[in-house]
Amino acid sequence: MFPRLAGVTVCGVLAVVAARVSGADAPFAVDEVAAGVFVHQGQVADLAAENGGDIANIGFVVGERCVAVIDTGSTQRIGESLRAALRARTELPVCYVINTHMHLDHVFGNAGFEGEAGVEFVAAARMPASLSARAEGYLRTLAHELGEAAAGTRAVYPTRLVEDRLSLDLGGRTLALQAWPTAHTDNDLTVFDERTGSLWTGDLLFERFIPIIDGSIRGWLAAIERLARLPAERLLPGHGAIVAHGGEALAREKAYLEHVAATVRAAIARGDTLGEVLDADDGTVAGDWALTARFHARNLSAAYTELEWED
Ligand SMILES: [Zn+2]
Repeated sequence: MFPRLAGVTVCGVLAVVAARVSGADAPFAVDEVAAGVFVHQGQVADLAAENGGDIANIGFVVGERCVAVIDTGSTQRIGESLRAALRARTELPVCYVINTHMHLDHVFGNAGFEGEAGVEFVAAARMPASLSARAEGYLRTLAHELGEAAAGTRAVYPTRLVEDRLSLDLGGRTLALQAWPTAHTDNDLTVFDERTGSLWTGDLLFERFIPIIDGSIRGWLAAIERLARLPAERLLPGHGAIVAHGGEALAREKAYLEHVAATVRAAIARGDTLGEVLDADDGTVAGDWALTARFHARNLSAAYTELEWED
């Protein structure tokens, strides 16, 4: 889930459109981080009325024939703001709205794109079941935390599923989609723009915002090893700044997750209960992360539940 930008390297043009997200005090900005690759960077913050739910990185890729949107934000209003920003850049049709996973801050702007003729909503094969299991709770949370800013928000499910890999042709430009074994969630999907070497990681990469385990810590560490070997030039994380591939971002995330795993494994070996693990936690973690107090204990709990039964 969320970022304010530290050391973001962008090339291209900053496009500021008039649309505003209710509750947020900044215009809805979209950066062209590589030729034809546009990103709106959400705030590094938890869901709150002050940010109107604008806490995830979302954006779009423009081909010669059509456009693909990648993640749509927490609310219908954010989705509509993204669509307005897109329309300020191109009149090409939106062929695809791709969701990188089912978390509320990435999918609930989908409804903002339902008016696009012929649009297909694309996600990993396990996404519909995982979203369906949580949709009601997510909508209650959005209404409670955001109030009016969440008005009209509802779930829009994928119409096309990715079991393993899928190539999408935008006209002179191909996006390579890949579904991952359970890691951040059980339905993570990455999107690679071959033309510019830009890899949308979804929440397989958190930058600055503390990683949140909602799938498998072991699976996530394995995914990081694979991500590190991919021939991308830049990584577009689900939260935080866009970074060059081969930099420190993946290593920092790996170090944090390894710290969590090591802490929990040592406690299990001693026979400590989960309650004792949480009591012993002094808030010291590997790396300088935002929202540690909000999510670190939750990560210890998730890791304990998973690692308690490993061989
Ligand atoms: Zn997520």
